[in-house]
Amino acid sequence: MSTTDPGMADRSANDLSKRVRALAMSPTMGMAQRAASLTAKGEEVLDFSVGEPDQPPPAQVTAATIAALEAGKTRYTNAAGIPELRAAVALRYRKDFRVSFAEPEVAITSGGKQALYLVCQALLDRADEVIIPSPHWPSFSEAVRLAGARPILVQAQEKDGFRVTARMIGKATSPRTKAVILNSPCNPTGAVIDPDDLLVIGDMAQRRKFTLLWDDTYGRLSFDRTESGALQALRDAVGDRFVILGSASKTYSMTGWRIGWMLGPRALVDACAALVSHSTQCPTAFAQVGAVEALTGPQRFVQDTVAEYKRRRDFIHGAISALPRVTCVEPAGGLYLFPNVGRYLNAKVPTTLEMAIRLLEQEKVAVVPGEAFASPGYLRLSYARPMGQLKLGVERIASFLVELQASGR
Ligand code: PMP
Repeated sequence: MSTTDPGMADRSANDLSKRVRALAMSPTMGMAQRAASLTAKGEEVLDFSVGEPDQPPPAQVTAATIAALEAGKTRYTNAAGIPELRAAVALRYRKDFRVSFAEPEVAITSGGKQALYLVCQALLDRADEVIIPSPHWPSFSEAVRLAGARPILVQAQEKDGFRVTARMIGKATSPRTKAVILNSPCNPTGAVIDPDDLLVIGDMAQRRKFTLLWDDTYGRLSFDRTESGALQALRDAVGDRFVILGSASKTYSMTGWRIGWMLGPRALVDACAALVSHSTQCPTAFAQVGAVEALTGPQRFVQDTVAEYKRRRDFIHGAISALPRVTCVEPAGGLYLFPNVGRYLNAKVPTTLEMAIRLLEQEKVAVVPGEAFASPGYLRLSYARPMGQLKLGVERIASFLVELQASGR
């Protein structure tokens, strides 16, 4: 029997664990793959699905990585990463956010995604609850589920600028709350958390003994940075229950390097390192050397990136908000726009999932439907794309919506 026999495929699917049977491919990756397969067929697709910077990393990062390869930095490293990179991460956070962690309180991981996965595996037990403000990045809830725990979603509202407040979090806590995941600027909304709310949430974490997981993947891509030392105040309040998850991916255009990190208590760092020692062994050796250069070298690249994203944000937010019957919160940071297109849904196109598929098929524009972020009625567009593509994309979306409205009448 051939391995492509459909019967065989069905039976082997039944052999999968209960844990993964409920797990689907990340919806963002799913859309990007659809777009890639159209591109492979020769179609000219505008891909606004995946949050991947379009420019190359800083030249000195690539040079340092090549030099590391040539110098034989090609062996296993410590499971928690090379000391130079752990120290470089700690130093970067001290400089940029005035928050202090010692080198043994930093673990390097294979991307921010692995940092999240490991921390969930290391912290959570069955019946534990983890509060996640939504719209949210899908891997937050999946990483919690994969650890056997329960995601508790709390809904941020468009009319409040998708602001996540201490009150919302407080209302969702229970004796089973083990952690709260905060992501600021948020993927997909671009909303940032007010430092005052953050401190109240920190107070709650300290009193109710839950861990605060602070995902700052987009932390250095904020447009109106009002950094106020809130993270150190949070660390002082929450102590060992304050954990930062971060990544080199977006800040330095290093997505394929797969370098992320976590900063937190030693016991958690050591537990994550033990998990790594039995799974991926260590982050890639020469990629870590490149990341040291990214974090310790000139930071002009980051400033330029933020300025460029702001220019694109201004354009695309203005253009999409100007479309009839579309509303859109202005992102305060990150790479994404999250417009509300729900007023265009009709009997023929009843969901934004369907809308995203049609938009790709008809107009060759790839976006991620709101359903992926537990927020139907919205689309997520990454504006980490050249301005020319953004302009063309807006034109195609505009004509698609006009046609959609006409067809629904
Ligand atoms: N956190 C958030 C909120 C993200 O959007 C992403 C990437 N999409 C990550 C973490 C992880 O990125 P990476 O694994 O490339 O470091």
